[in-house]
Amino acid sequence: MPAGTLKREFGRGERVLPGLWRLRLPLPWPGVPHCNAWAIRSGDGIVLVDCGMHLDPDKQQPGSLSQLERAMAQVGLALEQVRKLVITHAHIDHWGEAATVMQHSGCELWMHPNHAHGTEAERDGETALAHTIEIARAGGVPERTLVRYLEQIKDAPTGIAAAVTPDHDLVNGVTVDSDLGSWSVYETPGHAPSGICLFQAERRILISGDHLLGRISLYYDFGWTRDPITEFLNSLELVDALDARLCLSGHGKPFADVRAHVVATKAAVADRLAATRAALDRRPRTALELVPTIYGEQLTPATANWRLTEALCVLQHLALEGLAARESDDSTERWYQP
Ligand SMILES: [Zn+2]
Ligand SMILES: [Zn+2]
Repeated sequence: MPAGTLKREFGRGERVLPGLWRLRLPLPWPGVPHCNAWAIRSGDGIVLVDCGMHLDPDKQQPGSLSQLERAMAQVGLALEQVRKLVITHAHIDHWGEAATVMQHSGCELWMHPNHAHGTEAERDGETALAHTIEIARAGGVPERTLVRYLEQIKDAPTGIAAAVTPDHDLVNGVTVDSDLGSWSVYETPGHAPSGICLFQAERRILISGDHLLGRISLYYDFGWTRDPITEFLNSLELVDALDARLCLSGHGKPFADVRAHVVATKAAVADRLAATRAALDRRPRTALELVPTIYGEQLTPATANWRLTEALCVLQHLALEGLAARESDDSTERWYQP
């Protein structure tokens, strides 16, 4: 969809509980129209959890700082009050604006140390691009398509204001204080290597990033860890055991039936594993060739990147379980039933 046909949306703020607000920030992506940031009162300031992506502020683009400021102003908050910026994971829709927020507020940045999957694109564009090309080649994307893609993204904005590194590492055992009590950090890799959830135990509130979503949608970063699917399933077990009663996720409305969402997400993963196994036969095929069978539809420019990445993660997982076999020539990998 060309950007001009996107519905114009604005940042919106709403109170979830006394001292906790949802900041709903528009994104320039068809199919994923907004992301959430959360503001939590802490003494004379606030803890901001996630901050949206960075786009040209002069154009009042969705995702720009003005949208975050607008959402905050609606609930009587201002950027200058931010003392800590806590990032659930280093995907651009959650941390892209971090550098600008830090600049305006002087706040600290708290993020998981395994953030290279998100920060590398800004720090070292060439390495990040080489990584993307390697994945696309391995998945079976033809050279001519790759060349066209490289041409398209050459001058595209990264969605990141500047590469910033954390002042504090968000790892297991760390707590983030607020007027609502202290929030414990749980590392939840799978969707992203830098994924964390925050849990407020007395109130049983979970801030889940994209690890657990109201409307289930599966995505994993490929090529950063050995088996994102197993990591994701383990992280779902971990979150289930917390027994949260309210979940504040990275996209969509807060939801209460947390366990039902964990169960449904696990079932969605199991379905994808089964569909991928069923798509394999004795003939070695690339991930790109397998994707239409796995998903029951052809790839489109909007779905190609996402689905190819997911399929590669699933195939790699099946291979580690002995349920898929792979052969590779110099750059392309082909998959078959063992
Ligand atoms: Zn997201
Ligand atoms: Zn994400």
